Amino acid sequence: MSLDKLNQVVVYGLGAMGRPMARNLHKQNLLLGVKNRTRGKAQAMEKELNLTSFENDAVLFGTADCVLTCVSADNDLKAIISNLIPHMKPGSVVIDCSTVSPQTAQSISDDLAANGIVFLDAPVSGGVEGAKKGSLSIMVGGDRQTYKRAADIFSAIGSQITHMGKVGQGQATKAVNQVMVAGVAQAVCSSLAMAEQCKLDVKKVVEVLSAGAAGNWFLENRGQTMIKDEFNIGFKLDLLLKDLHICQSTLNTMDASLPLVQASIEDYKRLSEAGYGDEDISALIRLKRCELNHEDLPRESDNDA
Ligand code: NAP
Repeated sequence: MSLDKLNQVVVYGLGAMGRPMARNLHKQNLLLGVKNRTRGKAQAMEKELNLTSFENDAVLFGTADCVLTCVSADNDLKAIISNLIPHMKPGSVVIDCSTVSPQTAQSISDDLAANGIVFLDAPVSGGVEGAKKGSLSIMVGGDRQTYKRAADIFSAIGSQITHMGKVGQGQATKAVNQVMVAGVAQAVCSSLAMAEQCKLDVKKVVEVLSAGAAGNWFLENRGQTMIKDEFNIGFKLDLLLKDLHICQSTLNTMDASLPLVQASIEDYKRLSEAGYGDEDISALIRLKRCELNHEDLPRESDNDA
């Protein structure tokens, strides 16, 4: 297998994360092409970046030395990989930046390896803001030599890039990250709902707490928006709910559980079922306010009434 740096990348999945990643790869002359289930998004990006529109998938993926996937969930990724395998060259590489389970990463890696294709799991943290700035934190699992071949790709999209170990350990690290994200969201949303209940000036509460021992990224970046009921930014709560199920299944493999994970799944499930699934995870404050006031959570569709 060649040990050349990978530099002919196809980005598969042009969602909120994949689009800015593709733009950043293009800036470094690493982007060969793009692919998306909804064809219009790929066509728009080909036009925006003046990319070649390949005549079919066989030519597109057969020309690439790397396909970088960033799609919603485990089953979506599995279906995509089965369709990719017949087209990709032996010795080429798939880097997956979606958040899926460590078990899915391992089974995809096995399927690809049977066809001479190398796999790295490379989930990311830092949100849409981080994807746009090219400052994602990337946790990589898989062969170290391939990780080195992908160095230019990782540095085009991220600023903290860490090799965590074998295939699946990137995703296991991401599961740990999501437990922490859920815990911080629980703490901040509960505390700010309490501050409102205490009739404090919550804008000032966010400012003063951000500078002290309770300060954290979520408070600084979502505190002022959540108290104004602005939830259209950032990380969709349906995606965190999906990730928390991954955390739970990862814990299950060790015959373990964490109350924080169970409670967060219940909270986000309630929000999702009430119609708030596309809102940022800071919309958890809606539920915390209701709990403090002994009220039911209104459905999203009732809010305009
Ligand atoms: P998104 O905006 O909802 O985009 C999802 C992408 O996946 C779209 O390109 C969609 O194609 C594609 N897709 C979904 N199901 C598919 C299928 N069955 N076959 C082919 N393509 C399919 O999601 P996102 O925010 O970019 O997130 C992508 C991944 O990154 C997720 O695993 C998420 O957990 C992870 N992530 C997200 C964030 C964040 O802040 N958003 C942060 C870190 C990690 P269509 O355009 O056709 O729908």
